[in-house]
Amino acid sequence: MIRKLFVTTALPYANGNFHIGHIMEYIQADIWVRFQRMQGHQVHFVGADDAHGAPIMIAAEKAGKSPQAFVADIAAGRRQYLDGFHISFDHWHSTDSPENTELAQGIYRALRKNGLIASRSIEQFFDPVKQMFLPDRYIKGECPKCSAKDQYGDSCEVCGAVYAPTELKNPYSTLTGATPVMKSSEHYFFQLSSSRCIDYLQGWTQDGKLQPEVANKIKEWFTTDENGHGGLSDWDISRDAPYFGIEIPDAPGKYFYVWLDAPVGYLASLKSYFDQGGPKAKYGETRSFDEFIAAPDIEQYHFIGKDITYFHTLFWPAMLHFSGRKVPDNVFVHGFITVSGEKMSKSRGTGIDPLKYLSLGMNAEWLRYYIAAKLSAKVEDVDFNPEDFVARVNSDLVGKYINIASRAAGFISKRFAGKLGPTPSADGEQLLATLRGAAAEVQRLYEEREFGKALREIMLLADRVNEYVDQNKPWELAKQTGAEPRLQEVCTICIESFRLLTIYLKPVLPALAAKVEAFLDIAPLTFADAARGLGEHQIGSYQHLMQRVDPQQLDALFEPPAVEAPKPGGEDIAPVIGIDDFAKLDLRIAKIVECSHVEGSDKLLRLSLDVGEGRLRNVFSGIKSAYQPDELVGKLTVMVANLAPRKMKFGVSEGMVLAASHADDKVDAGIYVLEPWPGAQPGMRVR
Ligand SMILES: [Zn+2]
Repeated sequence: MIRKLFVTTALPYANGNFHIGHIMEYIQADIWVRFQRMQGHQVHFVGADDAHGAPIMIAAEKAGKSPQAFVADIAAGRRQYLDGFHISFDHWHSTDSPENTELAQGIYRALRKNGLIASRSIEQFFDPVKQMFLPDRYIKGECPKCSAKDQYGDSCEVCGAVYAPTELKNPYSTLTGATPVMKSSEHYFFQLSSSRCIDYLQGWTQDGKLQPEVANKIKEWFTTDENGHGGLSDWDISRDAPYFGIEIPDAPGKYFYVWLDAPVGYLASLKSYFDQGGPKAKYGETRSFDEFIAAPDIEQYHFIGKDITYFHTLFWPAMLHFSGRKVPDNVFVHGFITVSGEKMSKSRGTGIDPLKYLSLGMNAEWLRYYIAAKLSAKVEDVDFNPEDFVARVNSDLVGKYINIASRAAGFISKRFAGKLGPTPSADGEQLLATLRGAAAEVQRLYEEREFGKALREIMLLADRVNEYVDQNKPWELAKQTGAEPRLQEVCTICIESFRLLTIYLKPVLPALAAKVEAFLDIAPLTFADAARGLGEHQIGSYQHLMQRVDPQQLDALFEPPAVEAPKPGGEDIAPVIGIDDFAKLDLRIAKIVECSHVEGSDKLLRLSLDVGEGRLRNVFSGIKSAYQPDELVGKLTVMVANLAPRKMKFGVSEGMVLAASHADDKVDAGIYVLEPWPGAQPGMRVR
């Protein structure tokens, strides 16, 4: 039976470029989608930019652009990532679109008709200068518990206290610095706490389809304590103008909170794809979008990160169900990506810049393979470890799999004019039967998103083939007279085995599989091809299929970007800033307590700095070309002490040392670390 699947990834927020976490999710979903397509199923795989909300409105204003222009600029940068990592979306759209407006307003009207929308007045901080209500993230003040300054409206970073923004002492708007005032406003709520919603969601989330750890987490969200605290609350779905979003019908000046219309964007992207005729052209789909999305034979799946589980397993199915729409068949939740075991902040991404990865000439399929090898159906974090990456790509992917083709193809083309041999004898047939027999298990593992297990299974098969090659030694057969038929047979077995392994790896390695198809001169491989042999087929000439990773590429990948390197000399003075901007920089006198080379880096020195905190800071600085570690130990210098910690390949850098250099690093004018006049003490502020 041909399945019809509607698959999405989470919509990325359009306030910045993709980071490695996005790419990991796209790779996971893409492998699953390609696997389904290879089984002959029909997949509609769509994405979109999540364009609305206060952060984008404010970022656009800062950039001097309209929010639409700001989002369009971000959208224009998406293609190079998606193409670069072979992500096969059928369509990419935006939540700031007529389709999304129509769908979101339609869903809202249906929920209202169904009696699940309430309104009530709430009090909120309002910026009297900016004339807007302030989201919590734009309010700061002193912690009500410990009086630490500059704490956010929800919790204190110093003492860990959790509170409401209204409890802050001396609150101020981070947008204007003004003291916010309390102001009341009518808000609209989706009544998630109604017994209808709770009953429905308890059923939908606990019927066994969700990953067990996800279902368990949701169970906690339903639970109330003996005081009646906890449990599901009504969801505030409205925001007041000015807001970049979709207007709420019959409520002038009110907009949907971005999280209401963001998941509706899945449907909007699919609708836009239908309106452009995509499904008809691709699969002869004759139904309209409305018919298709409501049809019982359509399966709907969303790949998401664990941080947005609440929205996708509670709000989203409830919104759809109570507006009379079909709900998702499942939501597949994944963990985060860490680098060498360290979690990175979401806004900063991780130490791997996806575009830098590509610009260094690193093969996208190395990353696809590595991430796949680490993924399971569980909600586990995936760790990128540079040494492990090199080992898996070079030893497994190239060493075990690619090598099979390179060991056999030369003989076939030089000695047998590219012709594969006749049906092989018993030992070869047995090997091929083992490989073919694994198809069902490999398919099961892909279906269940157990990609790591699937790849382990496939690499065990590759081991079997390499054992066969080592036992039969084609390079020796090639020297023996009269061994031609056996040589052709052994090499034929190798090529046929390689073709079977390529079928199994194709969801992960689509570009490589295309090269193999060209080399073997065959039609695009599907899983059905695992049951068929090639016969006495004429293959094309072998071209090298994949390079090994050069560990120096990884050094370059984790090398700090040029912006972090010391600058000036040979460049214009930067735009004028106010004293407030300068005051944000916390420059301190630092004593260099220790200094050492960093193994594997030709640019960096590792410094241990005392800035009077009673502990030492670890800082990496790109000054190796100018200083020996011994020259620096004991000296005083100046560092940026409030720079966010930065994950680098060699560890976390907790600040930056100031140094002078020429802007153009081709001009060898040297690098000069700053040193204060005598008398300065570690920890003194530089202003
Ligand atoms: Zn505090």
